[in-house]
Amino acid sequence: MRCLVLGSAAGGGFPQWNCGCALCGLARAGDPRARPRTQVGVAVTEDGERWLLVGASPDLRQQMLDNPAMAPVSPRHSPVAAVVLVSADVDGVAGLLVLREQQRLRVFAPEPILRILEENRIFAALDPALVERVAVVPGVALDTGLGITLTLLEMPGKVPLYHEDRAAASAEQAATYAARLEAGGRTAIIAPACAEVTASVQQTLAGADLLFFDGTLFTDDEMIRAGVSQKTGRRMGHVCVSGPEGSMARLAGQPGRRIYFHINNTNPMLLDGSPERAAVQEAGFEVAYDGMEVL
Ligand SMILES: [Zn+2]
Repeated sequence: MRCLVLGSAAGGGFPQWNCGCALCGLARAGDPRARPRTQVGVAVTEDGERWLLVGASPDLRQQMLDNPAMAPVSPRHSPVAAVVLVSADVDGVAGLLVLREQQRLRVFAPEPILRILEENRIFAALDPALVERVAVVPGVALDTGLGITLTLLEMPGKVPLYHEDRAAASAEQAATYAARLEAGGRTAIIAPACAEVTASVQQTLAGADLLFFDGTLFTDDEMIRAGVSQKTGRRMGHVCVSGPEGSMARLAGQPGRRIYFHINNTNPMLLDGSPERAAVQEAGFEVAYDGMEVL
């Protein structure tokens, strides 16, 4: 199983179009320590020819152009055979619209996310005769037909911001998911959003050979202190990296490679050589970058 990081930043990317925070400023100025990053997405293959995308961000078109493995080999072809949706956030689904143009593919998603696609007519741009939407039951393993077995895992989280008004009235809490992918005896878990690393989450993640995990914020109030938002990470459904309840402490010592991705542009661990980068590396974590390949 080979994983290719198409995008490693959280929603908005790095730099973000309307953000003048210190880090975005460095990225915009071309500072080599602040490598720009597109919005989150990971491509996975077992046979090296057919790829499964986890997440479809608005940057998907650029990501396809940036990665030769995503290039067509004949006049109408794509190595992308399927997409797994783990969140209905804009940075998780908007890229589906890039995948129109008469391409056969399968979209795997849990019912709540499929419902959101159905309610938004713009996604009808994906011709139902060619794009099959497959409902995935969380916790139940499914053969993707690509040599990869998919299991969706429910994660503590929140519904997308644009859907919050309705969510308040419903008891539907499982709004965000992780994808567990198994192939050739190896397991990868891709978890771009997790609101809290509970004991149950620790247990769920423990068996993976490879973990891509929510690295949105380094500290919970980081966006407030940067003057770019009034929201804490907790409010956005993302556990922070640092602190006693942070993911770094709660996932420390787990076997396998652990890689932070879905990183917000205010997170100082984005900066090569920063103390925060050193801290996560010291704890055994890596920080993803666009184009990173993990075999
Ligand atoms: Zn910024």
